[in-house]
Amino acid sequence: MFKIGLGTDIHRLTEGRKLIIGGVDIESDLGADGHSDADVLMHAAADAVLGALALGDLGSHFPSNEERWRGAPSSQFLAHAVALAAEKGYTVVNFDSVVDLEKPKLRPHIDAMRSNLAAVLNVEIDQVSVKAKTGETVDAVGERRAIRAQAVVMMSKSA
Ligand SMILES: [Zn+2]
Repeated sequence: MFKIGLGTDIHRLTEGRKLIIGGVDIESDLGADGHSDADVLMHAAADAVLGALALGDLGSHFPSNEERWRGAPSSQFLAHAVALAAEKGYTVVNFDSVVDLEKPKLRPHIDAMRSNLAAVLNVEIDQVSVKAKTGETVDAVGERRAIRAQAVVMMSKSA
């Protein structure tokens, strides 16, 4: 039994915030705005896992107006989604994602993101793909107003 899940996320870029993507703290003049640590990739990943099991979206599990999630590391959102899936007998087969960011270049950080995601998804790093794209100077991403991520996950039920 296989199930596929899709997740997307977008955060506004602003000065005076950290830029954390896939659990990696990246040096940048602009950071991601948001209630938690605003990790766009962890959020998209958690939404994908929740989506595979039709468990609703991230906001319904972690309301952004709750004080306890302020500045929270977003890996815990993904860990929660993975735990819910495991309760239903599902584990991750593979994960693929795209992060849209104009700059800085993410290539030097891709393997660290994959490693962080693999640890939370309970899989090996070769089951986790993270790709980076720019916005080609157009639209919210290209004009450095936003960072966006998309993720898909395949899950299977063992036995
Ligand atoms: Zn988010």
